[in-house]
Amino acid sequence: MNTIPPIPTLDDYRPLAGDETIDRIRVKAAHLAGMHVVNINSTYYGGGVAEMLSSLTLLLNDIGLKVGWRVIQGSPDYFGVTKKMHNALQGGPINLSKQKKQIYEGVIYENSLRNHLTHDAVIVHDPQPLPIIEHYPKTVPWIWRCHIDLTEPNPTLWNYLKQYIEKYDAVIVSREEYKQDLITPQLVFEPAIDPFSIKNKDLSDDEIAERLNKYDIPTDKPLVVQISRFDPWKDPQGVIDAFKLARNEIDARLVLLGNVATDDPEGAKVYESLLKYQNDEIRLLSVEDTALVNSLQRRAAVVLQKSKREGFGLTVAEAMWKGNPVIGGNVGGIKAQIEDGVNGYLVDSVEQAARSIVELIKHPEKRKQMGEKAKETVRQRYLLCHYAEKYLDLLNNLEIKVVLRDGKQIGDHA
Ligand code: UDP
Repeated sequence: MNTIPPIPTLDDYRPLAGDETIDRIRVKAAHLAGMHVVNINSTYYGGGVAEMLSSLTLLLNDIGLKVGWRVIQGSPDYFGVTKKMHNALQGGPINLSKQKKQIYEGVIYENSLRNHLTHDAVIVHDPQPLPIIEHYPKTVPWIWRCHIDLTEPNPTLWNYLKQYIEKYDAVIVSREEYKQDLITPQLVFEPAIDPFSIKNKDLSDDEIAERLNKYDIPTDKPLVVQISRFDPWKDPQGVIDAFKLARNEIDARLVLLGNVATDDPEGAKVYESLLKYQNDEIRLLSVEDTALVNSLQRRAAVVLQKSKREGFGLTVAEAMWKGNPVIGGNVGGIKAQIEDGVNGYLVDSVEQAARSIVELIKHPEKRKQMGEKAKETVRQRYLLCHYAEKYLDLLNNLEIKVVLRDGKQIGDHA
């Protein structure tokens, strides 16, 4: 018996995105049939980049491109350095010593020796693998896709990375305001979710109950939830403080769920530092379980994403897709997704977050109405087929002069 679950196809998006959109995407994909593209990032799971790559690569393969995915292998030292870079790109300080540069550049050089790239285009994600471009003859388009909140990157780090960034043919960021002073053309792609993944697909009440039960999460009181890597930028402390304030007016339970990405060495420390707050009403969970993410987002009365910086925040779109108005930090990509007071709330402080929690718990009808608008926002703008179309447009527009290995030329570009 075949037990392989079906892979979502572009046609599955027809009822959600409409025939016109799907037909248009098919035409754009046909121009690129057989094109061999590789993505390079730094983790197979944990975090939004891996989340999108796992679905996007499959969807692009479904529509005729040959899209692959490689992951950088690195030592703990290397991931220590790259997490500091991630933090500095979001505005934090960094001591960019010679030793850090050596670790960073050395690991990337080793990876370039192991990865034989003979593709028609290369897409490199975030700063971790960025310098890899140096080690290949540049005969095809190279794209740097930065998922980070670049509102205020640390200038020392930016100047160092710029030497690599400007070797690329295009840079993609998640918001207009993240564009920087670069000679390389910059594009804005808003990320998106896969509505058919285990994390986002419909679940029955029984399935939700079973999953919550597995982790002894009681549902006798409304659930307030934040689901994020344990990272100071996600402000888990602020969530706990806001929940405690809100508890003066409403009865509820808080669940903070986080996983640990292999490229984020800070997670365990942050998680441990929060354990002291755990009690009957506040639950911290560090597990890798996508069905639990889905169940919590569906069962929650209130979903928070109280980030201080956020490139986009897939968790926001994921919860909105499940009909939840999200209370989000008034930053980065969260601002793009939430229209304050319409499909969620944007908050600048613990007090505002607490007031919004109370408001949503006290007014279930309002919560439902805002939640419907939240779902519609995602349906219109943040489904993976929309994101795939942006890549097709980019690849169609790049000056690609490639001949496929069987001698056939690709679409209009040869
Ligand atoms: N995530 C998860 N389990 C967790 C915490 C997060 O699967 O315990 C997922 C979450 O559902 C989302 C991704 O990790 O798909 C996080 O992406 P986001 O853009 O919100 O933030 P990032 O981690 O990339 O900064």
